Amino acid sequence: MRPLHDLLREAQENGVAIGHFNISDLVLLKAVFAAARERNVPVLVGLSEGEREFVGVRQIAAFVRSLREEFDFPIFLDADHTHSLAKAVEAAKAGFDWIVFDMSALPFEENVRQTKQAVEALKAINPSIIVEGEIGDIGSGSEIHDSAPDLSKGLSSPEEAQRFVASTGVEVLAPAVGNMHGMLKSMVRGETKKRLDIERIAAIKRAARVFLTLHGGSGTDDEDFRKAIAAGINVVHINTELRVAWRRGLEQGLAKQPDEVVPYKILPSAVELVRQVVASRLSLFNAPRRAAQGM
Ligand SMILES: [Zn+2]
Repeated sequence: MRPLHDLLREAQENGVAIGHFNISDLVLLKAVFAAARERNVPVLVGLSEGEREFVGVRQIAAFVRSLREEFDFPIFLDADHTHSLAKAVEAAKAGFDWIVFDMSALPFEENVRQTKQAVEALKAINPSIIVEGEIGDIGSGSEIHDSAPDLSKGLSSPEEAQRFVASTGVEVLAPAVGNMHGMLKSMVRGETKKRLDIERIAAIKRAARVFLTLHGGSGTDDEDFRKAIAAGINVVHINTELRVAWRRGLEQGLAKQPDEVVPYKILPSAVELVRQVVASRLSLFNAPRRAAQGM
């Protein structure tokens, strides 16, 4: 299996992005894995602290590792939005490939101090683990929001991106560039789309010269995704769109078979709807194009 770092480098060179999808049960994992195999592209599955709490840290690590080994397929595991060193260490020791160490709610200098400490501690456990840091404000909660929070004051600047990367040693940075966790109802209905600040992404890439992750990708305009990837985004996170498809698929499975009680006869409807969303996002993120802006 090629190391994740090589796959990231290759994505950067080819001007494509690796899709990252949050999971919190077997339906979602099966759907993501099926879509990635179908498209034959590397994929990241991520679990935030709440998602890990539900599934089990060591259990999901064993499950994903078993898929990677049995199918010789590049599926990797991320500890998404980890808010303490203890939780980060727990995931690293369980075999997670990637840690999103998220201290973005703290003042900048404190975020730098704690992230630097986390990079050192996590690399000591596994030198090839990838540590991602976060700056700026992109809201919280990958769910349906009634109104959009005002995130305009939390946008990341190229200067702070450069300083954060240089001071912490993170290999991947998650900036705030118009992206937002969760979706508005109008986005779920497809009436409105999130728009990204492409110029800001390009300026951050030039200044920070690291891999960049776009969080909160659900409901984003397709053309903005293409431009963001060309400007230097290497990983795109999708969660809420999958959760919406999961619920719809589950409701369909139950409605189609009102008297059914066998989970493996009800749940495939949910797997199928989630698989369709993941497949369409993977096609968009991995569409061949000219090389992205360099590092
Ligand atoms: Zn996120």
